[in-house]
This record gives sequence, structure tokens and C-alpha cells, in this order.
Amino acid sequence: MIRSLTIGLLLTAASAALPAGAQSSLPFDKIPGKLPKEVVPTAYRLDLKPDLETLALTGREEIDIEASKPVDTITLDAIDLTFDSVVVKDLGETARVTLDANAQTATFHFAHPIPAGRHTLSIAYKGVIPQTPAGLYYNDYESAQGKKRMLVSQFEATDARRAFPGWDEPAFKATFALSVTLPADLAVISNMPAAAEHPAGTDAHGAALKKTDFVPTPRMSTYLLVLCAGDLERIHEVTNGVDIGVWAVRGKAEQGRVALEAAVRLLPYYNEYFGVNYPLPKMDMIAVPGNYQAGAMENWGGLTYIDNALLFDPKTSSEGTRQTIFYVVAHEMAHQWSGDLVTMSWWDNTWLNEGFAEWMDAKATDALNPSWQFWLNEHSGKERAMATDAHSTTHPIEIPIKDESVIGEAFDYISYQKGEAFIRMLENWLGEDKFRAGMRRYMAKFAYGNASTADLWAELGAASGRDVAAMAGGFTAQKGIPLISVESRCEKGKTDIRLTQGRFTINDPDAPAQSWQVPVQIALVGQENQARTVLVEDGKATTTLEGCGTVKANSGDVGYYRTLYDRKGYKALVAAYGRMKPADRVNFVTDSWALVAAGSLDPAAYFDLLGSLKSETAPVVWTGVLTSLVEIDESLRGSPERAAFRQFAIGLLTPVLDHFGWDAKPSDDSQTKLIRSPLIGALGRYGSAVVVAESRRRFAAFETDPAALPPDIRAAVIANVVRAGGKTEFDKVRALGRQASSTEEKLRYYFALAAVKDPALTDEAVKIALTDEISNGRVGRFLYEVERQSDDQLRVWHDILEVRPTLLPKLPEEFRGQALPGVAGLTSDPAIGRELQALPEASANEGARIATAKAIEAIDWKVRFRALLVPAAETWFKGHKS
Ligand SMILES: [Zn+2]
Repeated sequence: MIRSLTIGLLLTAASAALPAGAQSSLPFDKIPGKLPKEVVPTAYRLDLKPDLETLALTGREEIDIEASKPVDTITLDAIDLTFDSVVVKDLGETARVTLDANAQTATFHFAHPIPAGRHTLSIAYKGVIPQTPAGLYYNDYESAQGKKRMLVSQFEATDARRAFPGWDEPAFKATFALSVTLPADLAVISNMPAAAEHPAGTDAHGAALKKTDFVPTPRMSTYLLVLCAGDLERIHEVTNGVDIGVWAVRGKAEQGRVALEAAVRLLPYYNEYFGVNYPLPKMDMIAVPGNYQAGAMENWGGLTYIDNALLFDPKTSSEGTRQTIFYVVAHEMAHQWSGDLVTMSWWDNTWLNEGFAEWMDAKATDALNPSWQFWLNEHSGKERAMATDAHSTTHPIEIPIKDESVIGEAFDYISYQKGEAFIRMLENWLGEDKFRAGMRRYMAKFAYGNASTADLWAELGAASGRDVAAMAGGFTAQKGIPLISVESRCEKGKTDIRLTQGRFTINDPDAPAQSWQVPVQIALVGQENQARTVLVEDGKATTTLEGCGTVKANSGDVGYYRTLYDRKGYKALVAAYGRMKPADRVNFVTDSWALVAAGSLDPAAYFDLLGSLKSETAPVVWTGVLTSLVEIDESLRGSPERAAFRQFAIGLLTPVLDHFGWDAKPSDDSQTKLIRSPLIGALGRYGSAVVVAESRRRFAAFETDPAALPPDIRAAVIANVVRAGGKTEFDKVRALGRQASSTEEKLRYYFALAAVKDPALTDEAVKIALTDEISNGRVGRFLYEVERQSDDQLRVWHDILEVRPTLLPKLPEEFRGQALPGVAGLTSDPAIGRELQALPEASANEGARIATAKAIEAIDWKVRFRALLVPAAETWFKGHKS
């Protein structure tokens, strides 16, 4: 604490203009990154002329800089830009420019050294506006008025440098004054409100142009700058002094009402939570019609979303979309503080932005919509994180970023879902009030600056009086999952419990032992309100609970660890299952399945557990079970045991679907609305004749009357029809996709095509990647789905290799190295792994090498898991025909 403060004061005294990071425990010059730190930008003035017809970008830029010592070169980020002139304005010194495409930098060489102190760079340059959704790009879409073009920016993580030369690393914060010249009839949106608009002549066709000057931003990182323009409309509401708006293409703005109402409810919640009011005068949320790589982006004051995560059409949108809109808005708004106001110093701390926003969106969504029981939905995300984190190829939450090619790896289940699950456990341990007090200290101290994980621990520690760093460091600085073994015995009316900490791994027998401090919440089944949290330190802990009963660790499912009970304890939990709460039931079932994968539980014991779930009615448990069924089904691909398994699955799930029914009921809770589609989809996948026939019947009715098939089950029903059908069904659904006017509908149809079984039609599905039917931002995911669902994965893999020259340029550069490993890792075919390794892009850079290694390990694991599962399945499913 003292040290941090002292460093901050010294640096501030040395130079008042030193950038953010000076106040962090990590001094600015120690922050990792590629660019030299002796020259820093303080203010950008950007004057952009994007030509939407020729797709040329012309830019003039002034950057106020501060040099801490004399320099004869200045290196900053730039890629796919050409320089017309670079001058140090105050010195009249012209630079010679060299480019390094590999490093994505430009270096300005000066004949005479630039003295220390403040200067202004004046730069004239040109760039291009691509269709690939990275940098300043375009999105063509069909509208009622014909084909239209929208201009969109997506700069995170490293693509601002495609739109303007700059210090494109998060620690180089500066202000941005943006001016843009575009056709006069377009709406133009950036982070801040427009300060002025001027006529700016005409374009080549004589159409009027206008120049929009935006109010300068506060100090912020380059990746948060935004520029969108198009034939857009806005709905808005002013609340707490902030003008909140939703922008959508003409005719669709009213579909932003659900998102606008969410934002209006969230703003006061966050103002109060963070203890710092939202600092900008307005907050716009912009719906991008389809061509978008992520789900949404937190650009400060100008948040962008793929439109199906922002727009709700009551005729075609599902309950799932309604909830998605709320939590995605909650996520991006949480970033307005965590990420935008206080920014991680470097991408190795991406989780500080993302894990926190994931946790905060769930907390806020749960607080403002208690009937959704939103934390139950979050369980599946934690499972995905643990599925990643159990393997040797995982990484710590604080991920080492050797070079920028690895940054894409940081946007994964570990940063997001493990980050969220860990913060939930930490908050539960510290207490809600103390955790919030720490967050408020952190926000106040680092506002407009950068911070690192250690800074957050320091503030949470100060607010709570606990050694947060000692506990938290175990989870963020080292990879992997603790395993808590539980033994208990009843004596004199009390339950003595002994907890031992190990490490939970899958397919990693040589993993070194690790030590964590694990806060274990523990209770007797039926007495959850008397749960107690025990910190397991130095590998063990003991505690005593009043009364005797069945011990359940990870009570409430609030912890990030797996639990292993002794034989007696496990049996007792199976017997007490019906008395557990849904969060504990799903925790118990999914831990059991994970223990099978780890080799610590006999598969037959898990199958027995599934067989005993007959009276289970909690959707969250079925969500967890469905995931395990998919894994079993995929493992049995091509083996004779698959048919017996599928019969078992149909017997298991049919009564569940019968219980919930196909049609919504007024008495449905929100969890029930979400489970029908996955159940119908699973039963279709396993070949339930009843479900396939009913899907066909409902699809036929839908063809004449779209209202006949409710949006909540539409995706599953249509996938079932495609899977069980042939060319006729494939063509019908593809035609529906072509005609669909909303992204939500369009993706629903195309992703249903991924279920197709006829190999010739699978080939055709992959070739969709060669067309522009699916936007660049979604085509990679579509192919991933085709591969995942195929019964002939080698054939699909070869199909994908064939379209690869067209596919890869459609993807943003930072995802190109991950695309093919992502597909290969879905398979259990070592031949595919070898072919992957032979591709040049598999070793093109460090990020690609990491992604490829993950895929190879995933394939190896699937081969081993299959060997484990097949004999067990053979015995068990034959003896348990439903
Ligand atoms: Zn985020």
C-alpha cells in the first residue's frame, strides 16, 4: 500500500502528464507491452473521411505527445495503412516512415532528435474499409428500402491501428477528438455527443456530405473508441442525467425497447454499486445488423451489439433472447466502469475486465429479475470453464501474453466464466458489503487510469481486513481446479467434517500438486440456511456442524472447485438427493460426471444416478444432464453401443418433456421456458420417433402460419426436421434463412442446417462459407456446428479445408489462428490432429501454436475417454433398456 502510493507520488511529481498506470502498483514503465514507453500520447485529434462507395479511408491526425527523453525514432501501431506525411508540427521536423507488417507497427525516423517534452505529431494517411469485422469495417444488409451499407468499428483488442496510427495498447490512455465526413443523410455515432455538424461539399455523385465534430472523450484506451454510421433511427430516455439511446436500422428502433428499459433500470443500480456515477453525458447502444464478430462491445458511451443481442421482436424473439438482451446489456454497462473507467494495464489481465463484467452482469440480472433465478443459468458457464481448466493446456486467469497473437486466447472460458465463478466465491467469502466497499475504493482510486489484479486485491483487502491476495492469488496466478475431499462422521449429535485439498485434473496424470486457500461453504442437506464457510488452508481443514445428517460441500454451488465424497457420503447424498435445493442438485450431478472423466467415479455410478432422476423437475439439472449426454453420445460415435445409449436417453428424457409439455403454460416460470428447446432438440438428436413426428407436424403448420411455432422452441423443431429430413427440408430451411429479415431468425435457420445428416448435404452446408449468406462474423461458428454434429467428421474436416482459402480472410486476424484448431478439437480423430499440425497457420504465431496444442490434447483426451466409456456403456445400457 505504502509502496504503491509512494511510486504514484514520485511519478506524478516527475511529470504531471505521465499517463495512467502511474497510480497503479505496477509502474507505467513495467507494464508489459510491445511499444516503447518513452513517448506517450496525451490527446488525439482525428479527422476521418471514410468513402462508403470506394471503401477507402482518408485520415488526418494530430497527436499531442510527451517524450520523457530525447528520441530520434517514434514507434506506434499501424497496420494496412499508408503514410502520406508525418511531421512534428511544433518543430517542423519531417519523418521518414518505415512499416513492420509483422509487428503491426510504423516507425517514424527523424534526422534530428526530438527533444524531451511536449510535441504534436501531424499525420496524413490512408487506409481501407474491409468487410471482415475488425477495425473500421462495413456491414451490408437488406432493408425494406433495398440493400444498405453501414459503417461499424470494432477495435478490441488490437484493431484500432487499422483505422488510425496510434499507441494501441490499453495503458496508453489519451483523449480523442473525432471529426468524420460522411453522406449528410446518415446518422453518425461515436463515444461522445456531436458538438457540431457542418456541410462538407458533395461526393462524386453530387450527394451532400456533412462533417460531424464530436465532443472530446475523457482519457481512455484506444480499443474503446467507436464510430458507427448508417441509415439508423434512435429511441431514447433520459435517466439520472444520462441520455440513454438505442440505435437500429430504419424501421427497427422500436425493437430496442426491451434493451432500453433494461439500461434504464441498470444505470442507477451500477451508479450505486460502483459509488461513481456514469461519467459521460450519453450512452448509446447500437444494433449492428449481422456482421459482427463478438456478441457486443463496451466502447465507452457507444456500445455496439450484434442486433440479435439487442433487438427484441415479439413475433420472432424467444424468451432466451429476452434474457440474453438483459444480461448482455448488463455486461456491457458493467464495463463502462470496469474496463472503460478503470482499464486493465495489459491483456494478461483481461479477466479484470471480463471476469468482473461476467460476474456483475449475473449479479445485476439476478437482483433486478429475481424470478429468473439467473444464477442457476450461470452454472453451465462454470462447467465450461472447469472443462477447460482441468486439462494440461489450460492457463491461469492471469494469462501470460508473450506477444499480441496470444491476446485472442485471453478471451475464453477462463477469463470470463472462471473469472466470474471465482469472483462469486470471493464475494461470498468476504461478504457482499465488504466486497462492494472494496470495489468502490478500487473505482475511486483508479478512475481514468489502469490497474492490475494486485491493485484489486489491495483494495478488497483494505475494505475487508482480510488477506485477499493470499487467497485470491491461488486462483488467478495458478491454473487448475482444487479438489476438496470430504469425510464426515456423526458423534454426540454433531457432525465432524474433515476436508482435504488436492487437485482435480482430466487427462493430465503428471500434473504437479498445487495448493490453494479454498473457502468451502458446507451444510447438512435441509439445513442450508445454517451453511458455514471454512477456509481450507495448507491442504486441510476440519469443522463441526450441529446435528447429524448428510453433508453437502459447495453448498449453494458458490465455489470454484470439485468435491469428492467418501463412499458413504456419496451414497448418502444420492439418497438425500430429492431434499437438496436445485443449485446443490446440479452441482452434485455435474461434479459426479466430472469425476467420471477424471477416473475417480465408475461410469456405471453416474449412469445409475441418471437413472434415479425420474422425479427431477428442475430445468437447471436437466441442462447439466443434457451436456453429459452430448458428451456420451459424441464419445460413442460410430460404436455399436450408441444405439443402446440413445434408447436410454430417449427413455430418460421423454417423461421430462412430457412433464414440461411442448406448449407454454401461464404457470411457466422462466427456467421452464428455457428448457423446452434443449429437451426437444436432444430427443430429436437421439432419434425419438415421437418427437421427430411432432417436430414435422409443427413445422408443416409453421410453413403456412409462422405463429403456429412459438419462437421458444423454433430452433429445436427446425433442427429436428433438417436432421431427420433430406434435400427438400434442407432447401426449405435454407430458403427461409435467405429470406429472414432479422439476424435472430436468420441464424436460427442456418444453425439448424448444421444438423443435416446426409453427407452430400453436409458438403453443401460447408460450401455456404463460400457465399455471403452468413455474415463474416458468424461463418466460423456455423462451420464449427456442422463439424460438431456430423457423424463423418473427417469428411466435414476435409470440406472445411477446401473452403479454407475463402474462409480465413473473412475472420478477424486475431481469430484466424484459432478457427481450424477449434474445429479439429471437436473430433476424436488423431488423423485430423496430424493434418491440423501440418497446416502453415497452425504454427504461424504463438497464439496459433497454443490453439493447436489445445486441439491435439482435446483429440487425445477424446480417444482415451472413449476407451473408458465404451466398455462401461456396453454393460450398463444393455442391462438398462428403458
Ligand atoms: Zn466483456
